[in-house]
Amino acid sequence: MSSYCDIAPGHEWHGPYHDTEYGFPIEGDAGLFERLILEINQAGLSWLTILKKREAFRAAYREFDPERVARFGPRDVKRLLGDAGIIRNRLKVEAAIANARTVLALRKTHGSFAGWLDAHHFVDATAQGRKGAMEQRTKAEWVALFKKTFRFTGGEIVGEFLLSAGYLPGAHRTSCPVSPRIIERKPAWMRAGIPS
Ligand SMILES: [Zn+2]
Repeated sequence: MSSYCDIAPGHEWHGPYHDTEYGFPIEGDAGLFERLILEINQAGLSWLTILKKREAFRAAYREFDPERVARFGPRDVKRLLGDAGIIRNRLKVEAAIANARTVLALRKTHGSFAGWLDAHHFVDATAQGRKGAMEQRTKAEWVALFKKTFRFTGGEIVGEFLLSAGYLPGAHRTSCPVSPRIIERKPAWMRAGIPS
């Protein structure tokens, strides 16, 4: 999506997302969980399709409240697979429910989904022969961690999730007028490492 800044501005659907959401920090578990599930549902489809279906997604997945989605049973799976407003894919539906349960588990260990992300933002790099004692987790390291933790989280999905939520830099071109507004909000990628 390196050219998102070129195609999105002014577009009916991409415009508002580009200008006010893409790359901005997300507060709260429901917002983070929504973004993860939308990125998972995008797999094989266009982001435009997802943006157009977003309100239907929110209704079908109960405003992406992890507690409510974690309780979804067979009747909800049937309801979701019959809802033409969303993406009717059994693997994606089941991944959303399993991942909601994972978010609840992360709340127990780290307080929140964001707390878990923050706890893993830096890695001790000395063990790998890198220079700094604590460095920001690389995309490849994030992907490995997500694969161990969540369902349906391949490299592209995890990379887009982290870019779009401000955990990795590069969502916007530095020359994009949105960039300074994001920097004001101090996304996670701006955090400094602990020098060795
Ligand atoms: Zn941009």
